[in-house]
Amino acid sequence: MLSDADANIDAALEATIECARKSPLYAERLRGVSVRNPAELREVPLTTRSDLIAVGLNGTRALPLEEVCHYGETSGTSGAGANSTWLTAADFSRSARAIAKRHPDVFAPGQILLNRFAFMAAPAHLIQLIAQEGGGVAIPAGNINWDVPFPRALDLAKSTGANVLAGLPLEPIVLAEIARARGLDPAKDFQLDTFFLGGAPLPPVMQRRIERIWGGRVIELYGSTETMLLGTGCRARSLHLEPDLVHCELLHPHSDEEIGVGEEGRLIVTTLGIEGSPLVRLDTGDRVRRLPPCECGDPRPAILVLGRENDVVELQGRRLHSYDLVEAGAAAADALDSSVFFMVVLQDRLVIRIESERESGDPHEAARKHLGDVNIEIETTKQNQLLDVEQLSRSPSIYKPVLVSDWRKPGRRILSVNQGMIEWTRPTLPELWRLLVRSLRSSARGRRLARGLRVAKDTSR
Ligand SMILES: [Zn+2]
Repeated sequence: MLSDADANIDAALEATIECARKSPLYAERLRGVSVRNPAELREVPLTTRSDLIAVGLNGTRALPLEEVCHYGETSGTSGAGANSTWLTAADFSRSARAIAKRHPDVFAPGQILLNRFAFMAAPAHLIQLIAQEGGGVAIPAGNINWDVPFPRALDLAKSTGANVLAGLPLEPIVLAEIARARGLDPAKDFQLDTFFLGGAPLPPVMQRRIERIWGGRVIELYGSTETMLLGTGCRARSLHLEPDLVHCELLHPHSDEEIGVGEEGRLIVTTLGIEGSPLVRLDTGDRVRRLPPCECGDPRPAILVLGRENDVVELQGRRLHSYDLVEAGAAAADALDSSVFFMVVLQDRLVIRIESERESGDPHEAARKHLGDVNIEIETTKQNQLLDVEQLSRSPSIYKPVLVSDWRKPGRRILSVNQGMIEWTRPTLPELWRLLVRSLRSSARGRRLARGLRVAKDTSR
């Protein structure tokens, strides 16, 4: 006897396959293929990210343009090129509603949502949509965007009394540093109490630090440009997948066997909630660990996202995921009461640079808990050496472009189109001096590390 849940999954898979057949990518691949259940799905070959790139701009689109409302593409930062995705209004709505439904205490009427996701990234639009459907008041303050530099985002958080900050994991860390440089206490002087973060590793040590600094709660968001929402975090800090939106397979790195609890594997996704660019057995390139049933009581499968397979660092016989590295760095920095760190991988060791002038604490021990016997060098730096708050606070002012400037009136006297759009504040002499000292210090350190790297390479020949 088929349970209701099984019957639902079978029907959803069948619908996805029928929909996907209409795209150039799958027209050929799915010819003559019938998929009526997860077992039959396993017979379909995997789709890789290279397939998505190779098939071109319109290759994944399964609907006529008239039915699509959004085009998106990956940032292409891996150097392999960007892949394209086409989404309908209903595609967005499904992901937005799933998020709002899982977190009714976060997204509710009257909640002010400071939306710092970049405009080109899908979550930016999901947060706006959640607000439009009754989940609060969104402030579209996308970062990596000159019209809302970090200091302005902080001003917005304060003046509007924002409750929720949505963005990359680094966002609350940068904002807290700027707040402190202004003599403000993030926990006392702001209303922010929820941090909805995704797009980069977010190990518990980092979550706890953000929560301590801001006096709030962190919720992890997991998804990608081409799959949309994959899951969100729960109170027990586990990431639960969304089985209504995606059918996930967790497979061994080198075989088609499902992995067991605690094991590491590949995440293969078949979208159930996307009509614009449906995907069948996409190898996301992410490595994940399957977690045991979650103590929060939610029966949905829980995973830990370790990072991209391509980002794995091999060091002294160990394979380190982005998650492992960030976890170790954050733990070492936390031991010195700092949130700001940067890591450099060398031939024979991992250098963890931490912005801290504190003497007590054992960063070595904290990092070793996560990395074992990998050689670690801890280096502490002065303030602003790794995250230059002074420079970030001197972001340019951005104006609407103009073509005429009346110099007879008071105000800015503009001579060119560029001047009209961007105005860089002039640094004072002391500011210039400090900037120069920091940049000289940084290049001297860089040269010393590079010299070590060359020596290590020569001796290893
Ligand atoms: Zn849970």
